[in-house]
Parts: sequence; structure tokens; C-alpha cells
Amino acid sequence: MFFKDVVGQKEVIEDLLREISSQKIAHGKLFVGSPGYGTLAVAMAYSRFLLCENPQKEDACGACSSCKQMDELQHPDVHYVYPVVQTVSKTSEGLLNEWRQLVKSTPYFSMFDWIKVIDDKERNPIIGVEESKEIVKKTNLKSFQGSYKIMIVFGAEQMNLECSNKLLKVLEEPPPKTLFILLAENLQAILPTIQSRTQSLIFPKLSTFEIAGFLEKERRMERHAADGLASFSEGDLSRAINLLENGEFMEIYRDAFIQLMRSCFKKDVNEMMEWAESMSTHSKERQKLFVLYALHMLRQCNVLNYLGADHVRVTKEEMTFIEKFSPYITGNNLRQFTDTMDSAYYGLERNASSKMLFTEMSFQVMRYIHRA
Ligand SMILES: [Zn+2]
Repeated sequence: MFFKDVVGQKEVIEDLLREISSQKIAHGKLFVGSPGYGTLAVAMAYSRFLLCENPQKEDACGACSSCKQMDELQHPDVHYVYPVVQTVSKTSEGLLNEWRQLVKSTPYFSMFDWIKVIDDKERNPIIGVEESKEIVKKTNLKSFQGSYKIMIVFGAEQMNLECSNKLLKVLEEPPPKTLFILLAENLQAILPTIQSRTQSLIFPKLSTFEIAGFLEKERRMERHAADGLASFSEGDLSRAINLLENGEFMEIYRDAFIQLMRSCFKKDVNEMMEWAESMSTHSKERQKLFVLYALHMLRQCNVLNYLGADHVRVTKEEMTFIEKFSPYITGNNLRQFTDTMDSAYYGLERNASSKMLFTEMSFQVMRYIHRA
């Protein structure tokens, strides 16, 4: 990963380059944002630049031995820490091959993508006490190449309290030329004491334009389809890649959305209950994606109503449905629809019972759809 490979995030990269040229590098950094905004990608490009033996003005050289080691994710002075399911492995080291393989495929992946790789039961991974001992051990090693030692901590909010406290001690008295880059989606989940010992850098969402550009160039998608996928990705490239690679789920979401709207329109309570039942059999992540998809479709109906078909970002099949359905989405109910989806998403994030949640959603949709 080079800076030039990072999608968007120009300001973040400029800030980092400015800091390097001022030669006052903060030894603890906290990159805040979804991995799909590029936190890991930037951390890797930054490490490469910092350790490059022949850095150019704005990027690493790509040819020196340090760059070659970075290519293989085998640089002896760059350590990766990531959450692990404790019954599978207590430390990152035990899953290094899996990590390298995933990162090499793309540094734009979500925590859920990582969980799927390491545990088919999809249990919650943590960064625990055994890992913290490793961190302390590695930070006390001498650097191999006399330059910085860098510790990139992916999913830092998954550190348990014991590990956080150990890390805090290291951050309070860091060994010389040691750099910590903590990556976290949610700033609030990081201990305030750690926040105050690190310099936080907030990563904004990517623009639809940036994501569509990536899909077009790197994944050879047609512009129209790339725009549609990008606008449903909520500024998160890992989500766009996921949707692209799991195209069959897009069809499942589309059919589920159409089914919900039809049953609710007919006020067929039995069908609505069946729908909620079948939605609840999907994994939590897929349920959340469905809710985002529904939000996207509702917004696209509104776009069609107010701006016309040229501005709608959907596939041909979706358009066939939206053309008939959009008259039922108006200023009288759009807000209520989006509030319903927002609160469903919030509920799923907090592990609400999905069967109840989707049942409730269907009743709300039934009410609002007849208010158009
Ligand atoms: Zn180099």
C-alpha cells in the first residue's frame, strides 16, 4: 500500500506528510473511522513511507529493501495487532497467515470480514491480556533497521480493560522511536486516558464519487452500476467491495424489500409476520445491510419523484419496481420511513431481538405506506 493507492483522504495524508517534514512525529496516533474509510490503508502507506530508505517527496520509493518487505507484509519493524477469538488463538501471532492473506487481498475490509475469516461461528474477537504482553515485549525489542518500530492496532476498541491499561503504560513512557497507530471505528469506545495520550485523526466518509471511481477503475464496473453501488455504500469502501463480491445478497435484499412493501400495501398481516420471521434467520450483519439497503431504495424513490430518472442510482431491475412504487413515497411519509429504518439499524447494533424488530418495522411500514 502506497499513499497513491489510498482512495480519497487527501487531507489526512497531507496532515501526516506535514508532520513528518516538521520532524515532530507524535508517537501515539489514533485513526478514527471505519476501516472502509481507509484507516488501515493509510496506516500501512504511512508506515511504508516512514521506513522507506529512499522516500520521494510524497510517497515511498517502492524499490528499497524496506519497501520490498512491506510488499510482503513481512517488515520486521512493523507489527500488526488485531482482535482474535480467544478459543481460536490468544494472540495475533497465531493468525498471522490469515491476516496477511486478507490484507493482501485488500486493506479495505470490515471487522465482520475479519471475523468471518478467523471463526466460522462468528464469535466476538478481543485484544486480550496475552496480546498486551506481546505488545510490551515487541516494543522493548531493538528495531532491526535502526529506524522506527511501528505497531498498528486494528480494531483498537476491542482491547479489553487489562490490555488497555497495559498499553496505556507503554504510551506514557514509550521506548524511543516507537510508534503506535491505533485504528478505531468509534472514539467513545477508547479509554479517555488513551485518547489523551494519542493524537487523534478523524477519517471522514469517502464520497460517492471516490468510491464509484475506485469501482470503475479497479473493479472494472460500468459507470452506472458503480454509481448505484457507491451510493448505497454510505461512504464505506469495504461495504462496496463486500456488496460487489456478494452480488447474490443484493438480489436477496431487493426481493426482501419488494416483498415487504407489497405485503404492507395489501395489509396482509400473515405475510408480514412470515417476512419478519424469515429476515430474522439472516446474520446480524446481513440484517443491518438490509436496513441500509431499504434506506437507499426509499431515498432513490424520493430522488425519482423530485429530480427525475437521470439522478436515480439503481439497477435496471430495481428501477422497474421503483417506477411503480415511488408514488407511495412522498413528503407525507418519507421522514417516518427513514426514522423507522434508522431506529431499526440502531436496534440491531444493540442486539435487539430481530424478529420483534422486523415485525414492528413491517407494521410501521404498513401504516406509513397508506399515508402517502
Ligand atoms: Zn522504499
